[in-house]
Amino acid sequence: MANTPTLNLEAAFAQMEKLARNREHSTDRSSPGMPSQASHVQRNFANQIPSANDDGGQCLCGHHHLGIYLRTLGNRSEYSICPVCDPQARCEDCQGTGQLRSFNLLTLRDEIIPGACSCRTGRKRADLLNRAQLPRRYQLASFEKLRIEHLGQNQNLVTKLSDCRDRVMGFCESAVPFLSGHEAAPDKIFLTLLGPVGTGKTLMGCAGLKWLVEETGCSARFVDFLFLLGQLRETYSQNSSEEKILKPLRDADVLLIDELGKGRAEKAWQMEKLDDLLNSRYNEGRITILTTNYLPPEAAYDPVRAGFRSAPANESFWEQSLPERIGARMYDRIVESSVFVDFIGLPSFRRATAEAFLQRHKAETTKGF
Ligand SMILES: [Zn+2]
Ligand SMILES: [Zn+2]
Ligand SMILES: [Zn+2]
Repeated sequence: MANTPTLNLEAAFAQMEKLARNREHSTDRSSPGMPSQASHVQRNFANQIPSANDDGGQCLCGHHHLGIYLRTLGNRSEYSICPVCDPQARCEDCQGTGQLRSFNLLTLRDEIIPGACSCRTGRKRADLLNRAQLPRRYQLASFEKLRIEHLGQNQNLVTKLSDCRDRVMGFCESAVPFLSGHEAAPDKIFLTLLGPVGTGKTLMGCAGLKWLVEETGCSARFVDFLFLLGQLRETYSQNSSEEKILKPLRDADVLLIDELGKGRAEKAWQMEKLDDLLNSRYNEGRITILTTNYLPPEAAYDPVRAGFRSAPANESFWEQSLPERIGARMYDRIVESSVFVDFIGLPSFRRATAEAFLQRHKAETTKGF
C-alpha cells in the first residue's frame, strides 16, 4: 500500500497564495521573456504556481498541482515532472535535495532519508504511472477531457456520457480513503464498465486509474484481456511459469482489465487462472476496474438505440452474454463486488470520427468536378 507523503490541497493552496503575494511585490520580470503561446494556454488556478516562478520557462503540465506531464521521446512517451512546476527546486524543507531529515529515537541521531521529502511526491507518482503500462492512446486520459464532439447536438447523449464519467469519478473518490490507508476497503471494490465498442469505457477506466495513482500514490497496472490470454498461452508452450505474469497483476493496488471476455480461452485452465486472479483480488480487497462489450443476460443491446439498423455481423457481444463468455463463477464474483456503469446507447466515438472523415474526404474529392 502506498504511504508516500501527500502534497495535500491545503499545502498547495498555501504555496499558491505565497507565490501570488511574492508576485504582487516583485516587478514584472518574467513577462518580456515569456513565449507568446503562453497567452492562449488555458490557465486555471493550479498552474499559477509555475507562472509565478522566476525561472521563466513554460509550463508543460498545464493543470496538475503535482506537475506530472507526458513527455514524448521519439516514438515513445513517459510521464515526467514538468521542469517549471517541479516543487523540489523551490522546496524549503529540503533546500532542493529531496532528502528528509528525521530524528532516530534508537540511535539518538538525525537521519537522512534520500528522496523522502514530500516535494518528491509528484516524481514518485509519475514513476508509478510509467509502471502502469497504459497503452499509448490512453496515456492522456483524464476526467476533465470528455470528448463530446461526436455526440452532435444531442443533449441526452452528452448528459449520459457525463453521467458515466461522474459515476466512474464517484467510484474512484470512494476508493481514496482506502488506498491512502485511512479506511477499510469499500463495499464494492470492482468497477465494471459495460457497453459497445468505442463508447469511451477504456478511456474512462484509464482516467480513473491515472487519477487514483496521482491522488494516492498507489501502484497500478493495465492489462488487455486478449493479450493476457496470449501471454498465458505462451508461458504454457514454453513450459515456463505463468506466475511471472500473474503476480504483478494480483499485487497491483489498482488493476484495469480491458475488454473482458474478448477472445476465448482455448483451454479451461486459462480461464481458471483468470478466475483465480479475480478471486485473489476480491479476497485481498484490491480495487479492480473491468471493461467489457458483453452484457449481463438480463440486459440486451438495442441496435436501433445504438445507431445501427440491425445487429451488426461478426460482433458476438450482441448474441452472447458476459457469463457465457467468462463462465458463471467469474461472472457471479463480478456481480457481487461491482459498481456497474453502462455506456449502452452511446454512439461509438471511433465510428463517428471515421464517418466524419469519410464525409470530409468525399466533399473534398467531389469539389473539383
Ligand atoms: Zn507545469
Ligand atoms: Zn523537499
Ligand atoms: Zn490531483
